[in-house]
Amino acid sequence: AAHHRDLSGPARHFVGGKVPLGLKRKALRVLVTGGAGFVGSHLVDRLLERGDSVIVVDNLFTGRKDNVVHHFGNPNFEMIRHDVVEPILLEVDQIYHLACPASPVHYKYNPVKTIKTNVVGTLNMLGLAKRINARFLLTSTSEVYGDPLQHPQVETYWGNVNPIGVRSCYDEGKRTAETLTMDYHRGANLEVRIARIFNTYGPRMCIDDGRVVSNFVAQALRKEPLTVYGDGKQTRSFQYVSDLVEGLMKLMEGEHVGPFNLGNPGEFTMLELAKVVQDTIDPNARIEFRQNTQDDPHKRKPDISRAKELLGWEPKIPLREGLPLMVTDFRKRIFGDQDSTTT
Ligand code: NAD
Ligand code: UDP
Ligand code: UDP
Repeated sequence: AAHHRDLSGPARHFVGGKVPLGLKRKALRVLVTGGAGFVGSHLVDRLLERGDSVIVVDNLFTGRKDNVVHHFGNPNFEMIRHDVVEPILLEVDQIYHLACPASPVHYKYNPVKTIKTNVVGTLNMLGLAKRINARFLLTSTSEVYGDPLQHPQVETYWGNVNPIGVRSCYDEGKRTAETLTMDYHRGANLEVRIARIFNTYGPRMCIDDGRVVSNFVAQALRKEPLTVYGDGKQTRSFQYVSDLVEGLMKLMEGEHVGPFNLGNPGEFTMLELAKVVQDTIDPNARIEFRQNTQDDPHKRKPDISRAKELLGWEPKIPLREGLPLMVTDFRKRIFGDQDSTTT
């Protein structure tokens, strides 16, 4: 029963890509905000592969044309340089709303802009979805749990968030974005989906975005010491990007609003992560301890029972398999194509 469901909106399609024999799945028009970024560009690849038409709206703050340039010239692809803080008129069936800087270094760079993007930007995209009756998916974050007092984190946990801290522009911004999404769902009958994404890594991550995986990989490749913040005993759970993209698409196509945790439950301390990076790139890479940043969550690990049960989704790629795929991409981007064939 979960496999075909008739929607009343314009997004009339079949769940899970399973189309009854003899019926061709109707191609959709999909908007991906933030589609020139790390996660968004991988999502765009998959949507185009599936036969949909994709419009990317991105202001290129942390995204890069390079991430989507392979689609330029494809009549099913369009990119609009636009800031979601400003209203926009478009006609689509589905909206994946990703636009927002994601790494602490980028979102702290201009905190007021970050919160405007999360609040005004999300409001605009919800207003757009309401006008055209499109299905709307918000990419929220594990940071809505703050420095969690419950471990692992379940979707029903309300979180432990500092409202006036340096991370608040991001985590409180995303919490408000979730609130807005649910209010449009209840008030305007909008079809919505909410994903709470846990730390994700993979090819096309910004090289110098300050996130721990990109930092360690770039440092090991450049023969610089790996910078471990604090005592390195804090934990995170790292998900490979293709697993996330599959989860986002299953969520959009499925019939449940969420929120859903999308992450890999494999939990690592930063010291353990450093060890995996050493094993993958350079066993002689040194470790250097640095002072930790303010309000750094001590641990984070998703409980993904809900996504497993209701979306039939779970990640497939463990850290030790995903990391080498990212290293290949970083090697190319740091040293250029030539060196990557010889190293
Ligand atoms: P990213 O920085 O690579 O991508 C974000 C994209 O949004 C960029 O292309 C950027 O240029 C664009 N953008 C930012 N502000 C904008 C604005 N005002 N108007 C238009 N475009 C704007 O980050 P990502 O890792 O791909 O993250 C994508 C989404 O997933 C974000 O919403 C982020 O909060 C969420 N998320 C990511 C992670 C992760 O580990 N990568 C974890 C939790 C949540
Ligand atoms: N909006 C938009 N594109 C649209 C429809 C709305 O950008 O196609 C913006 C609109 O400018 C507004 C926001 O979305 O700022 C919320 O719109 P809504 O209609 O829900 O609220 P209202 O305009 O009544 O405040
Ligand atoms: N971190 C680290 N070294 C770095 C960058 C980050 O030890 O070079 C730590 C950071 O203190 C945090 C964890 O790695 O405990 C994850 O940080 P990141 O910025 O990647 O993501 P977060 O989950 O904090 O948003």
